[in-house]
Amino acid sequence: MTKYIYTTPDGGKTMYQNEFGKSDTKERIGNESSEPIGTKKTALVMGAGGFIGSHMVKRLKKEGFWVRGVDLKYPEFSKTEADDFIVGDLRDPKLVSDVIEWGFDELYQFAADMGGAGFIFTGENDADIMHNSGLINLNVTAECVKKNVKKVFYSSSACMYPEYNQDDPDNPNCEESSAYPAAPDSEYGWEKLFSERLYKAFERNHGLNVRIGRFHNIFGPEGTWDGGREKAPAAMCRKAITSDGEIEVWGNGKQTRSFLYIDECIEAVRRLMESNFTEPVNIGSEEMISINDFAQMAIDISEKNITINNLEGQAFQDKYGHPCPLGVKGRNSDNTLFESKIGWKPSQPLIEGMKKTYEWIENQVRNEL
Ligand code: NAD
Repeated sequence: MTKYIYTTPDGGKTMYQNEFGKSDTKERIGNESSEPIGTKKTALVMGAGGFIGSHMVKRLKKEGFWVRGVDLKYPEFSKTEADDFIVGDLRDPKLVSDVIEWGFDELYQFAADMGGAGFIFTGENDADIMHNSGLINLNVTAECVKKNVKKVFYSSSACMYPEYNQDDPDNPNCEESSAYPAAPDSEYGWEKLFSERLYKAFERNHGLNVRIGRFHNIFGPEGTWDGGREKAPAAMCRKAITSDGEIEVWGNGKQTRSFLYIDECIEAVRRLMESNFTEPVNIGSEEMISINDFAQMAIDISEKNITINNLEGQAFQDKYGHPCPLGVKGRNSDNTLFESKIGWKPSQPLIEGMKKTYEWIENQVRNEL
C-alpha cells in the first residue's frame, strides 16, 4: 500500500505521517491521483465507505474539494475517489480527534450503524444502533467545536417522525413541524432525534454551524443489495432479477413509502450546505407508492412473469422466527419547507431511478454467478 504525504491548507507543512499506522485499528491510504491540498476547499466525509458517503466523495471531488474519507471499510463497489481515506472506528474519540485534524471547510457525517427494515425493526440490533451511532455523533460534535470545523452536515432520517402521524397509508404527515411530541417507532429513529438535538445544542451553546437533512429512503447504484442490510428498492430489484415465478413482499403490501434517487439526494445536500437554512429539513421524494405497486414496478422492469407473495403474520414468524418487521403504515416526504427555503425540489420519476438501479444490481448478480 502506498503512503502519501499531503500538505495542510494552512501552511504547507507535511501532515503527521507518523501519527497514523501506530494503532492497528487504523489504516490509511492516499489516492494515486490525489494532489496536494494547496488552496482547495477541504471536506471530511464520515461514512465514506458507505452508500451515500461514497457518492458524496465523488461529487465533492468533481467540485474541486480536497476530500478525506473515513469509514470502518473501503467502498465495496468502486475505488474511493477521496484524496485521503482512513479506515478507522469513529466510536473512538482519539480516531475522531485524529481525522478532524484541522478546521475543515465542510464535514459530512453519514456514518451510522444502519440497514433496512430487516436490520432496524426486528429489535435485535437496538442496543448497537443506539450506542454505536450515538457515540459517533457525541465524538464528532465536540471535536468539530474544538477544531473549529466551519460547517457540518448531519444525516438524520424520516424514521424520527412520530408513528401516530403515519398510521394512514394514504395520508401520512411528515411535515418537519410534526416531529413533536416525539414518538418514533424504532430506536434507530430515537437515536436520530437525539443526535439532531445534539447538533442543535452545539449550535446554540458553541456556535457550531450545522445543516440537518432528514433522508427519506435513498436508493440507487452502489448501495447494499443483499446480506440483510439492504433496503426495499434494492431488495425488490434483486428478488425480481433472481426470481423464477414469485417474489416475497413483507406485510400486506398496502404500506406506502417514497424513494429518492441518490443523485438528487446529493444535489439536495449540497444545496442545503450552500444555503443559510439551519433547521432540520426533509430530503426525499413526494412520489408515494404502495409496497406492492413498488414490487410490481420491479417486476415490470424485469419483463418476467412473476407474482407477488405477501408474507405476514404467523406465516412470516414461522419462516423467519420473529414478527414481520414493517415500520410505519405510511410515509411520504413533504418538500414544502425545502422548496421554500432552498428553492429546489427533486423531479426525477421513481421509475427512472429504479431502471438504473435494476440494471446495476443485475450486473452485480451476474458477476456473482
Ligand atoms: P451505509 O450503511 O451505506 O453507510 C454508513 C457507513 O457508516 C457504512 O459504510 C459504515 O461502515 C459506516 N460506519 C458505521 N459505523 C462506523 C464507525 N463506528 N466508524 C466508522 N464508520 C462507521 O448507509 P447510507 O445509506 O449511506 O446512509 C448514510 C447516512 O444516512 C446514515 O447516517 C443513515 O442513517 C442516513 N440515512 C440513510 C437513509 C437511506 O435511505 N439510505 C435514510 C435515512 C437516513
